[in-house]
Amino acid sequence: MAGYDYDLFVIGAGSGGTRAARVSAAHGARVAVAEEYRVGGTCVIRGCVPKKLLVYGAHFAEDLKDAQRFGWRVPSAPEFDWKCLQENVLAEVDRINGAYTSTLESHSVEIIPERAVVTGPNSVKLAGGREVTAERILIAVGARPAVPECKGSEHGITSNEVFHLDAIPRRVLIAGAGYIANEFAGIFHQFGAHVTLINRSDVILRSYDAQIRDRLLQISMMKGIDFRFHAEFAGIEKQADGSLKVSMTNHDPVEVDCVMFATGRVPNTEGLGLESAGIELDAKGAVPVDEDSQSSCPSIYAVGDVTNRVQLTPVAIREGQAFADTVFGGKPTRVDYDCIPAAVFSHPPIAGVGMTESEAKQKLGNVRVYTSDFRAMKNVLANRNERCLYKMICEAETDRVVGLHMIGPDAPEILQAAAIAVKARLTKADFDATVALHPSMAEELVLMR
Ligand code: NDP
Repeated sequence: MAGYDYDLFVIGAGSGGTRAARVSAAHGARVAVAEEYRVGGTCVIRGCVPKKLLVYGAHFAEDLKDAQRFGWRVPSAPEFDWKCLQENVLAEVDRINGAYTSTLESHSVEIIPERAVVTGPNSVKLAGGREVTAERILIAVGARPAVPECKGSEHGITSNEVFHLDAIPRRVLIAGAGYIANEFAGIFHQFGAHVTLINRSDVILRSYDAQIRDRLLQISMMKGIDFRFHAEFAGIEKQADGSLKVSMTNHDPVEVDCVMFATGRVPNTEGLGLESAGIELDAKGAVPVDEDSQSSCPSIYAVGDVTNRVQLTPVAIREGQAFADTVFGGKPTRVDYDCIPAAVFSHPPIAGVGMTESEAKQKLGNVRVYTSDFRAMKNVLANRNERCLYKMICEAETDRVVGLHMIGPDAPEILQAAAIAVKARLTKADFDATVALHPSMAEELVLMR
């Protein structure tokens, strides 16, 4: 549209914003994206990517122990160099940040390294003072860690700071029992820290299948991670020696060297000016949107965590792609939110797709549940007493697999492939008709009785 500076102005160059900007530009739109921090957003800069690399790094603690049972002579106390891993991880983050930036540039997307706020249905003000106009605005500003209000909360860190620690703390307390808490409990524990995880309820990973999350709890406790439940955070007191005394309800205070909050994430909408376009945020501060990611203001759209639909990178990417194809590509597309696979990169990891057993019972009534509870071959030889659990939930009437849930080594890698079968509505008989790939852990999926 000739009257506007841009056809599309994207605020936020994370997973959703970058995809939407790049694809819209490829469809011929004149696009700018404003990013106040670094191109790549949470996933690349301070989330999925560096976290997964730390998970790999942490796993060597067990691998080095197990290696001895496989004939390798390993020093009795192998040394871990946090600074070396940190440097390498941050360098990889820089590399991906560069790759994202050049992808945008090669699609002629203008990158504006400034904070931008909405000033009306078609206008945006940049931190430097410039005001620009766009036919459409896409809000893709993501979310940030929520820190419960309590005395001394400023002494705690979040997943934003964890990648920049000077050293691995000797004792860590993690508040929360969701994705980030369980992933970092595993990471810190493998790096030699004593980990205490506290949660306000008595449930970890609420959205996962009860049997699977119980298995993680049991294995984590066996490894030496301390769990405290019904523990509402009360406050942090910094002691003379620099340690932190954490008080909570129903339990004695704990003394640690680092407190990490992993108590959910809130949409980044504060001060974004959306009210100037007549957009009312929901109770959690998210931008309410319809199935086409369009807000109540027709020229303003939103994708990714800021909409608080499903806070996962691949979902934000799909939303960004669907937006670009619908609005600028002449190809109306909607994201299908059914059967989204998800994983927790804990030690061992969890992965799941579809309904949990209790959801299936509630929704379908009559279900058949098949399980395989086994020790991975590698764990048997390593004398590692850690059992995998695979669970298949089927609708009794149709035999259709409606849920698949797993805990064990490589569960996310295995589940990604199996999720295709669940998404394709295959039946237990289809799984049974597939010949096992032996010897593997994944073969249990076609051998369940
Ligand atoms: P989660 O929603 O997974 O877990 C939040 C935890 O904090 C829960 O245990 C919850 O308790 C507790 N909690 C929530 N609010 C409060 C409060 N006010 N006071 C005390 N405790 C509280 O959040 P995370 O921060 O771990 O992760 C945020 C999101 O990021 C995830 O939901 C996920 O979508 C995404 N993510 C995905 C990853 C992956 O795909 N592997 C990895 C990391 C993050 P209760 O159970 O009682 O509600």
